[in-house]
Amino acid sequence: MAARRARASLKRDINTRVITPQEALRRALSDTDSAAGSLRVTEFLTSIPGVGASKRDRVLEQLAISPVKRLGGLGARQRTALAAYLDGRRAEPAQQPARSRLMVLAGPTAVGKGTVAAQIREQYPEVALSVSTTTRAPRPGEIEGVHYFFVDDAEFDRLIADGELLEWATVHNAHRYGTPRGPVEAALAEGRTVLLEIDIQGAHQIRAAEPSAALVFLLPPSWDELVDRLVGRGTEDEEERRRRLRTAVVELKDQDSFDFRVINDDVARAAKEVVELAQASARGEA
Ligand code: 5GP
Repeated sequence: MAARRARASLKRDINTRVITPQEALRRALSDTDSAAGSLRVTEFLTSIPGVGASKRDRVLEQLAISPVKRLGGLGARQRTALAAYLDGRRAEPAQQPARSRLMVLAGPTAVGKGTVAAQIREQYPEVALSVSTTTRAPRPGEIEGVHYFFVDDAEFDRLIADGELLEWATVHNAHRYGTPRGPVEAALAEGRTVLLEIDIQGAHQIRAAEPSAALVFLLPPSWDELVDRLVGRGTEDEEERRRRLRTAVVELKDQDSFDFRVINDDVARAAKEVVELAQASARGEA
């Protein structure tokens, strides 16, 4: 029963791209008793986005793999053939080298970017965390100039018109958020590492404006965990929950254009990994 649940959860992770099929195959081969190891190759294939029953059957025939096989039970030649097929379909996002002190932390809604950024602010004062400008109202406890610069629509329009924002976006169809250009440029000029915690649209704009920037995609430990975080508070109605889940699926598809992927399994650990990646990128070693 528990094993079946673990396999179902793994299939959701593959289907929503929380993990790559290549990663699932590696897990299967390193531990044949694991959820991945005991997953039927047929179910593995159809959990991959874009693979349906007829493609599955063609692939199995081509690779000379019997449909009753489990991933952990594949022979050496079958493993190699399956791995090559997966790479041909969609190469795994490379942990690409970057050479910049500008780093972007983005990821799907509710993955915990804000919490990781807050941890970095507290534990790693050497990293300059950009303070965004927003048109939304402050929440209790939020401090002007620390968490955000809070402005009205007219002022936000002016910032855009005067080119004072490095990027900006309307988030959740509601409020506008943007990165003030001046402080980022000043911190970079001082030789500091600068981290932007922004949404995915903003990350793409930074990529376009500053191609050497290092883009980090924060991932949940599993799809189920993301669902818990998204709908866990139970304050949204069914329609809103579905909208959020659909958004998360779309956002997870975006990760291939990022340089690094960090799993938010533990806030302190994830924050440390982001800072180390930022430092390595700045040295041109990542
Ligand atoms: P919140 O209102 O909960 O503080 O933030 C909502 C979302 O806005 C988060 O996903 C956060 O990453 C994003 N965000 C915050 N600042 C910026 C910004 O300067 N630019 C962009 N593009 N997104 C931002």
